[in-house]
Amino acid sequence: MRLVTRFLSRAVGVLVLVAIPCLFPGQARGISPRGAEEAEMRRLTSNIHWLGHDSFRIDGDGIVIYVDPYRLKEGPKADLILITHDHMDHASPEDVARIRKADTVIVTVATAAAKLSGEIRIVKPGDELTVKGVAIKAVPAYNVNKFRSPGVPFHPQAAGYVGYIVTVQGVAIYHAGDSDLIPEMKDLHPDVALLPVSGTYVMTAEEAAEAAAAIGPKVAVPMHVGEGIGSLSDARRFKEKASVPVVILSIEK
Ligand code: ZN
Ligand code: ZN
Repeated sequence: MRLVTRFLSRAVGVLVLVAIPCLFPGQARGISPRGAEEAEMRRLTSNIHWLGHDSFRIDGDGIVIYVDPYRLKEGPKADLILITHDHMDHASPEDVARIRKADTVIVTVATAAAKLSGEIRIVKPGDELTVKGVAIKAVPAYNVNKFRSPGVPFHPQAAGYVGYIVTVQGVAIYHAGDSDLIPEMKDLHPDVALLPVSGTYVMTAEEAAEAAAAIGPKVAVPMHVGEGIGSLSDARRFKEKASVPVVILSIEK
C-alpha cells in the first residue's frame, strides 16, 4: 500500500512537471503571461510609426503607407497615402508633396481629392479595394455629439468621411479618422485600433475607452493629440480607462 501511494505521488509529480510548461509555454522560457502580452503588442505595432496627431507611417513588405500625413519631417517616400477627410490637419497638400513619388497612389474621399492631384482612388464609407497588393476598407467616421453649432456636427455622417482598415502582413489596422463612438465600430474586428482621444472634435479619452471595449482589438493606440488639440495626458487617461491593451507610441519626428 505504501509502495502504491509512493508510486502515485511520484506519478502525479511527473505529471505536474510535464503539464506546467504545456499550460504556460511562455513561463517555461522565463516569460510571464504579462511579458508575452507585451511582446505580442510590440509585434502588432512594430511597423506602425506615429508621426504626431493622426499621422502614421505603416511599413509593409516593400511598401510604405502613410495615413493622414501632416507636418512631416523627412521620411521614406510613400507608395500609398490614405486620407480620411478634407480637414487641413488630415488632408495636407504640402505634406503629400513631401512624400510623393512618381507612382504614389492616394486613396481618399471626394472632398479631400479636390485639394490634391495625381493618381487618386476616391472612396466612400463601405468601399473595399486593393491597391499595390494592400487590402483597404473605407469605413464610416462621423460625430454623434460634437457640434460646431447647435445641431451641426464637425463631422456629419452625411459628409461621407472615412476611417480605414488596412491589412499589412496579416495584421488588420483600423485608423478611425475623426469620429465619435459609432455603432458601426463593433463590426470591424481589427487587430489594432488607432483611436482619437482629444475630445472637442472627436472622442474624449473616456469615450475612446468605451469605443475600444466595443471594438475589442488586440491592442489600441491613442491618436489625435498634440497639434493644438488634446495632449499626451489624454492618451494616458485613455490607457488607464481602457479595458483592452493600449500602447502609446513614441512620436517619431
Ligand atoms: Zn476633422
Ligand atoms: Zn482632426
